[in-house]
Amino acid sequence: MTLRFRLTLWYSAVLAVIILLFSSVVYGLTGFTLVTQVDVSLRQTAKDIINKSQIRRVLDVQFLLIQQQEVNRFSSQRVYVQVWRANGTWVANSDNLGDYQQPLDPAALQRDHGSAGAVVNDGSRLRVVTEPIFTTDGQLLGYVQAAAPLDQVDLVKSALLIVLVSGGLAAVMLAAVVGWLSANRALRPLDTITQTALQITRADDLSRRIPLRGVPKDEVGRLAQAFNDTLERLERLFNAQRRFLADVSHELRTPLTTIRGNVDLLRRMGGADPDSLDAIQSEAERMSRLVGDLLLLAQSDAGTLPLAHDPVELDTLLLEVLREAQVLASGVQLTIGEIDQAVVIGDRDRLKQLLLNLVSNALKFTPEGGRVTLGLARAAGNWARLVVTDTGVGIPPSELPFIFERFYRVDKARTRSAGGAGLGLAIAQRIAHVHGGRIEAMSAEAGGSTFCVWLPLAPERVIVEAAKLTDTRPNLTIPAGLKKLRRNS
Ligand code: ADP
Repeated sequence: MTLRFRLTLWYSAVLAVIILLFSSVVYGLTGFTLVTQVDVSLRQTAKDIINKSQIRRVLDVQFLLIQQQEVNRFSSQRVYVQVWRANGTWVANSDNLGDYQQPLDPAALQRDHGSAGAVVNDGSRLRVVTEPIFTTDGQLLGYVQAAAPLDQVDLVKSALLIVLVSGGLAAVMLAAVVGWLSANRALRPLDTITQTALQITRADDLSRRIPLRGVPKDEVGRLAQAFNDTLERLERLFNAQRRFLADVSHELRTPLTTIRGNVDLLRRMGGADPDSLDAIQSEAERMSRLVGDLLLLAQSDAGTLPLAHDPVELDTLLLEVLREAQVLASGVQLTIGEIDQAVVIGDRDRLKQLLLNLVSNALKFTPEGGRVTLGLARAAGNWARLVVTDTGVGIPPSELPFIFERFYRVDKARTRSAGGAGLGLAIAQRIAHVHGGRIEAMSAEAGGSTFCVWLPLAPERVIVEAAKLTDTRPNLTIPAGLKKLRRNS
């Protein structure tokens, strides 16, 4: 559920509850007021009739004398009147009741005080007010019941209900629409912030900023400003770190070259312990490789990595890598699987480094008797797919997402002894990226690993031009793959 949807829902729900409460109060109060008015007027009618009646005493018995015209006084206003004796016998009816001699509200005749209630008579609702008639000495003589239909009251109430329900619904819908629009308006800068943040992550580019033009200086505006400030600081830190890495690796190269040169000199002069010299040389070479790798990564981070843009025949390159890697394959069978012709645009040395990193890893992590297979295929969508498969130790699935990170090694102890610093795959992936490609790693633990390198194929036009170029210069040999391609085109 999005924030704007939740906000709109809250607005509308709160408004709906308020309108419901308000409508219930208005509806209830209106109904109560209207019925009270009816009661007041009926009670007045009953009292008028009682006041106009006379009580006569004959011997010890008291009689009630009521004029029929008094009983009928309000019949034109749809007021029904009945007069009853205290013992429940009928005395008189207003003419509009005809000869209906049932009490309009039988329960009220049991009480010795006035009461009012609603009864349903012949399908229509009547409000009945009952007033007792007392003698001056307080003896209950009878009752006057005055009744009026409640249809007008019901009509007003149902009209009010319609107005309240439809008005309430319209108000809630309007609030939902206005709420949605204003939440949209208020949160739009957040969308911009999210998009920019995603672009920064995708492009790995900390120099981007959230455009602040048009963003109001409210909470969201301040968030955008704070985000930009954080980016600025991060960018400065990253740049400082990159510069530091590049400077350190650059500065370390010269002393390392001097050490290696002097080891050679010492070896030629003789006298020094050969084992110590071997150790110094191998460590100096290891450090040189490490420094070279770090420099490459620092340069590619800074965008200053020198990169050739030539057509590169991947099939020839793969065979070359196979030949060179054979020396590393002690006891491991290194073979070629399917191989297609594929030409990409890029830097041959870097692509070779990429492949050598993958193949040397495969050989390093495959025990004796295992097999490492290289393959090259043209895949749909103009991609070249280089595959390095081994039957080695495999990589646990939980480690797969991290193996391309710098200095990441799955089994620290084993890989350090094998000479790896955890930079090989980071470099391979960097090289694939700068060529517009990518690397995927798959592994079933104990079932070996497979690394797929996807590189965009060179456009056909470039391949033909490259083939022409090599053909017109007699001292250049035309690569076998390009010759075949030229023949086909
Ligand atoms: P390293 O220099 O240590 O080989 P990499 O960056 O080349 O560093 O590889 C990172 C980690 O990924 C290695 O330490 C290893 O644990 C794992 N790894 C790479 N390739 C393979 C493979 N073919 N089989 C098993 N594990 C591998």
